[in-house]
Amino acid sequence: MACVCNLAGSVPKVEDELESGRRRGKVKIQAEDGKSPNSVHTPIYLDNHATTPVDPRVLEEMLPYFREKFGNPASRNHSFGWNAGKAVEKAREQVAKLIGANVKEVVFTSGATESDNLAIKGVAHARNDKGDHIITAVTEHRAVLDSCKRLEQEGFRVTYLPVRKDGLVDLEDLRRAINDKTVLVTIMAANNEIGVLHPWGEIGKLCHKSGVIFHTDAAQATGKVPLDVVKDDVDLVSISGHKMYGPKGIGALYVRDGIRVEPNIDGGGHEHGMRSGTLNVPGIVGLGKACEIAQEEMTAEPKRISALRDRLRDRILQGVDEVHINGSLEHRLAGNLNISFENVDGESLMLGLSDIAVSSSSACRTASLQASHVLRSLGVSDDLAHSTIRFGVGRFNTEAEIDYAAGKVIEVVSSLRELSRV
Ligand code: PLP
Repeated sequence: MACVCNLAGSVPKVEDELESGRRRGKVKIQAEDGKSPNSVHTPIYLDNHATTPVDPRVLEEMLPYFREKFGNPASRNHSFGWNAGKAVEKAREQVAKLIGANVKEVVFTSGATESDNLAIKGVAHARNDKGDHIITAVTEHRAVLDSCKRLEQEGFRVTYLPVRKDGLVDLEDLRRAINDKTVLVTIMAANNEIGVLHPWGEIGKLCHKSGVIFHTDAAQATGKVPLDVVKDDVDLVSISGHKMYGPKGIGALYVRDGIRVEPNIDGGGHEHGMRSGTLNVPGIVGLGKACEIAQEEMTAEPKRISALRDRLRDRILQGVDEVHINGSLEHRLAGNLNISFENVDGESLMLGLSDIAVSSSSACRTASLQASHVLRSLGVSDDLAHSTIRFGVGRFNTEAEIDYAAGKVIEVVSSLRELSRV
């Protein structure tokens, strides 16, 4: 069985469907005790920040909404529409519960990119009479940075906060940047490259003291770390289904009751007029189920994943020297490991690791050869940034996979260095 199938209580039929689509090679590796060899299937997926496999329990929940329960929730005159509508409202409750929100405050979107656009442009446009200043951080995802750039073209002013060497924003910098024209602060909960967790609770309190609205892009954080919109003083939260074992093309924006957001899309007035368009019912059902599972597993899962991540880190550090781990180790997502290898050509490194699915940078930037803006902002040189790997350990990874990956990294880095010496 492949690595996706270590779930207690999972649904065999759906697992088989997932499995048959994988066509992966099988490699036997000797277990540490020297007795039974453990099998891993290659390529090994360690890129869970780019996307996550759909949890079989999520897929199972979604399937009827492609088949017999295909109705449109906007159809008010028959049971097909009513059943779809009920499923959407159940999912809204599941999403709301995960972040401590009220059901009325959850707006379904196509993903975190759209949620970021809606939150940032929507609030800026709605509050234009109050001010024209927005604050964000240099390490944000492109969906946030490019939304801010668009607003700058319209005449808004944007402050891009630097980050410290550990990748976190300095609260003093934020305090100093807020002025009486500031209408919005947008700072991500967890960074998609280096996995660092910004102190969103403290940022929220600071914003609220100053009467400023606080948005956080929680695409990487939702379901992985506890986030409570009331306790943490967060006004808008972007959520993405495919980063939390749900489907792609679905997400949500939490909008605190009473906050005005100008829509980006005009149309049928769905989602309280904030996001028109026929609802993606199977996607919404999947996102809801993914949130429910994340909530149930929030205590145990991060412990298991961080143990695997630490095992990977420790093995690599024992096996090769001249490596740097980027970003705070203390304030970090359980599954993230971002490592730079000195004296190794980045392209050769990625080629050598072709049976391990990892990212050389953010998934959304792999088409470009530019060094990562996140690593640059930490002061990492372009050369070193090019020989940096982001590992994203996730729900379905196993110890055997981690050991195989660590061994492969050590082998490839050592042989590349050896070759460059001759
Ligand atoms: N924000 C962050 C922090 C991300 O990591 C991503 C995806 O990589 C996005 C936004 C975009 O999310 P989506 O793919 O749901 O549009």
